[in-house]
Amino acid sequence: MKKYLLILLAFCLVLFSACGGEKTNNVKTEISTVQKNTEVAVSKDLVTKVPIIMYHYVRDVDEKKDGLGWRLSINPRDFEKQMKYLKDNGYTTLHLSDLIAGKVPKKSIVLSFDDGLEDFYTTALPILQKYGFTASDAVITGMVGAHEHMTKEQIKACIEVGIEITSHTKSHLDMSKISGAELLAQVVDARDFLKNNFDIEPMAFVYPSGKYNDAAIKILQQNGYKIALTTHEGEADLSKDNMLTLPRLRIDNREGFIGFKNVLEKISAEK
Ligand SMILES: [Zn+2]
Repeated sequence: MKKYLLILLAFCLVLFSACGGEKTNNVKTEISTVQKNTEVAVSKDLVTKVPIIMYHYVRDVDEKKDGLGWRLSINPRDFEKQMKYLKDNGYTTLHLSDLIAGKVPKKSIVLSFDDGLEDFYTTALPILQKYGFTASDAVITGMVGAHEHMTKEQIKACIEVGIEITSHTKSHLDMSKISGAELLAQVVDARDFLKNNFDIEPMAFVYPSGKYNDAAIKILQQNGYKIALTTHEGEADLSKDNMLTLPRLRIDNREGFIGFKNVLEKISAEK
């Protein structure tokens, strides 16, 4: 009798563990379904439009003493308000190289800075880091270490904290007015400088003053560049725009925080 009881007990135990096992499997299945659904949800949220902001200096300038300098600058308090707005509104900052895939997550933005200016390192970078953002800085390689421009050490420090460094030619010449060997040298010398000093081969380029022509585009293509920025005004559409002539949204003291907020609100209302 005892033997039968023991067999019955063993049978019940097997049955119980089998039921428990099934339950565990069900839970696993549910988790994997949730994960799958999340992946689908993320991929559905990919878009082809992305605002690329164009900044130059982040500093205080007296408009009356230096009108041009004022128009090329955003004051640090206004810049911080813009970063706070991006954070509060759920934006993610991307590198230009992230755009090559042609699709980006919703609410992505690229913060592009021109000229490799020193106040990017001293003023903009600490604010970007405070909000957990990254940015892309286009360096004029012939001006590295010059007055108001970042030194090699400052550029290295930017790269170390995840800032994307891109090419803005060697001497900031108007690319639509030079040709042949001079045009080629502006692209190749800058690329070699970035490779030799920082061990990076940038895939992104910014035309000095936004000026370009077909020859300039061809030279960029031949030298491995996948993305190039102009000063054409607008939000970039990676499915329609030429990736080597992407437009940007200029933000300086004239637009200020209100202009920045308005342009982004207009863009999200259109989506
Ligand atoms: Zn420039």
